[in-house]
Amino acid sequence: MSTVIKSSILELQETLGAWRQQGQAIAFVPTMGGLHQGHLSLIKIAKENSDRVVVSIFVNPMQFAENEDFGEYPRTLGDDLSLLKELQVDCVFTPTAEMIYPDGLGLTIDVGKVGQILCGKTRPHFFNGVTQVVQRLFDIIEPDVAVFGQKDCQQLSIIKQFTSGVKILSGAIVREADGLAMSTRNQYLSVDERQIAPQLYRTLSQLHQGKLDLYMAKKQLQQYFKLDYLEILDANTLKQITDNTSKIAILCAVFLGSTRLIDNIIFRRENV
Ligand code: AMP
Repeated sequence: MSTVIKSSILELQETLGAWRQQGQAIAFVPTMGGLHQGHLSLIKIAKENSDRVVVSIFVNPMQFAENEDFGEYPRTLGDDLSLLKELQVDCVFTPTAEMIYPDGLGLTIDVGKVGQILCGKTRPHFFNGVTQVVQRLFDIIEPDVAVFGQKDCQQLSIIKQFTSGVKILSGAIVREADGLAMSTRNQYLSVDERQIAPQLYRTLSQLHQGKLDLYMAKKQLQQYFKLDYLEILDANTLKQITDNTSKIAILCAVFLGSTRLIDNIIFRRENV
């Protein structure tokens, strides 16, 4: 089956409507392009859980602050489309900002406190912008299922809280051979920075294995990075661990030069 590429909402909805009439379930994977194996793993999950897969490629201006990298964000549409065709994705949606925001660029959603902790401290606009675009894309596509990466753990948690009517699935973090979590932004790293970057996951793993405590792990990260945060929280609530906590998240963000890296390890709490 060949991949159809739609940049018009009406044409997209015609295609989706025809599939729906045939009783086919639609899974959706939203992306900003610059595709890597992490994205492709989500598409695999989407395929396993539906009859048709739609992938969007849209660099969402509403989730970037003025001083962030919206202008430089890697735009590799030709390569992305080749990958998606190889994977036999049914449909790729490539909207413009005018189509997504017909009333102009303005934040219309406030996810509140949960968007102001962790990554939200450094990027207070981010989760409002992400939730706004995901809600808009869900309204356009009306998928049965949508797939997000555990790599963006806080994003996944907020999307689960602030969307309804779509089953949300998640995919594990896909890593480079040296442990660095794959990310479109890894392209920003210089050769020297790329050598240093795996220290992030190495340190989180040592903390997880009990080889370092939280204080020592922070100290170790600070040898290589500018530490944004390192926290150990309840993975479901993103709040402090309580007696009811069943899953724990080690969550971290660091700056390496001007590149911000995030990573996490999630694990079951024993004896709960
Ligand atoms: P992005 O294009 O960065 O907006 O990411 C699109 C989706 O891919 C999000 O749901 C991310 O969480 C997910 N993703 C990004 N990197 C990875 C990774 N290394 N492994 C698994 N999923 C990822």
